[in-house]
Amino acid sequence: MSTSTESVFTESPERQELRRQVAKLAGKYGRDWFTEKARAGEKTTELWLEIGRAGYLGINIPEEYGGGGGGIGDIAAVCEELAAQGCPLLLMVVSPAICGTIISRYGTDEQKQRWLPGIADGTGTMAFAITEPDAGTNSHNITTTARRDGDGWVLTGRKIWISGIDEADHVLVVARTEDARTGKLKPCLFVVPTDAEGFEARPIPMEIVSPEKQFQVFIDDVRLPADALVGDEDGGLVQLFAGLNPERIMAASFSTGLARFALAKAAAYAKERTVFKDPIGAHQAIAHPLAQSHIEIELARLMTQKAAALYDAGDDMAAGEAANMAKYAAAEAACDAADRAVQTHGGNGISQEYGMAGLLVATRAGRIAPVSREMILNFVAMHSLGLPKSY
Ligand SMILES: Cc1cc2nc3c(=O)[nH]c(=O)nc-3n(C[C@H](O)[C@H](O)[C@H](O)COP(=O)(O)OP(=O)(O)OC[C@H]3O[C@@H](n4cnc5c(N)ncnc54)[C@H](O)[C@@H]3O)c2cc1C
Repeated sequence: MSTSTESVFTESPERQELRRQVAKLAGKYGRDWFTEKARAGEKTTELWLEIGRAGYLGINIPEEYGGGGGGIGDIAAVCEELAAQGCPLLLMVVSPAICGTIISRYGTDEQKQRWLPGIADGTGTMAFAITEPDAGTNSHNITTTARRDGDGWVLTGRKIWISGIDEADHVLVVARTEDARTGKLKPCLFVVPTDAEGFEARPIPMEIVSPEKQFQVFIDDVRLPADALVGDEDGGLVQLFAGLNPERIMAASFSTGLARFALAKAAAYAKERTVFKDPIGAHQAIAHPLAQSHIEIELARLMTQKAAALYDAGDDMAAGEAANMAKYAAAEAACDAADRAVQTHGGNGISQEYGMAGLLVATRAGRIAPVSREMILNFVAMHSLGLPKSY
């Protein structure tokens, strides 16, 4: 069977149209609106609900639960186009992509009816909490524990860096339950209301200019009903990993979107700003780094689209490797693009008016979260190259 290069190396006309429509919608809001909201301590709920109403937020959620029936490639395209317009929405990574995927794949029909329509239209945003202060990168060491209490559960533990608790009614918490046979603790997922008794969230002051905040979370004997448990109690890590590949693909799209935004600003400025006889973009010292960024961003986008295509085709193993590589490449491309964009702007690069310097921190977060560049390099060294496990 021959396959045309067009269908292999470019996205479908529907996906391209989706990108155009999302860009148009986000363009109505724009970077200035976004940073003003962030600096005023306000939220971007208006945009969140509008993309929800337009069907973009739940585009990957099954149609029978209020979504668009698309895949991770679609929601990743939405995420990237929002960021490329200067309106990066971190909670897209969490609510529809991680929580939406896990519940769609492992929830009961009742749980899907209950949670997915709100995730899809933006009225029932769900945060995701795995990271703990002591375990950090080593998620295998988490200690948040659920013990049985009659028909239900009692949950206790600590989480850190959890995004969007103030915008979410519920949070999908990765905890452990005790195995009745072995006594060992095994990972399990619970939907926890953010207004539950014993649940407390404290904002962590961050240097990122974003309306979306990170929180320290204290879970003290929070009582949950039996159906708070999502998936099979013995399902273990497989259920969790169902959400982590989409998370990496989304994080990569978030980064390539921000990188495109930074590069577009830099290129526009380099064409206009003249201090000697030609615009500064005529100097190769300015033009080459920007050209390099364009290449790096396109490479990262290609790998991100490959990862999404593999995931949507059901090839979880290959998608895992590609998603890690895409996330790495995208974060690197974004950090470099932001740095070059700042340099291109000279003094304006660190002024609030031009808003470039804020991108340094925003893109830098992509090297740390949701999985750090070091852990991706560990993964590739071990799984792709067959080198010994180093940790
Ligand atoms: C903006 C932001 C939003 C976030 N949102 C969420 C969220 O919504 N939900 C959630 O659960 N978490 C969230 N996180 C947490 C994020 O996933 C963690 O910060 C990340 O996994 C790193 O964990 P840590 O900060 O504890 O770093 P640590 O684990 O303390 O690591 C510190 C450094 O050591 C390196 N390191 C550690 N072990 C090794 C090793 N074996 N080999 C090489 N290097 C190593 C790491 O790569 C890192 O550079 C968010 C973080 C940020 C910054």
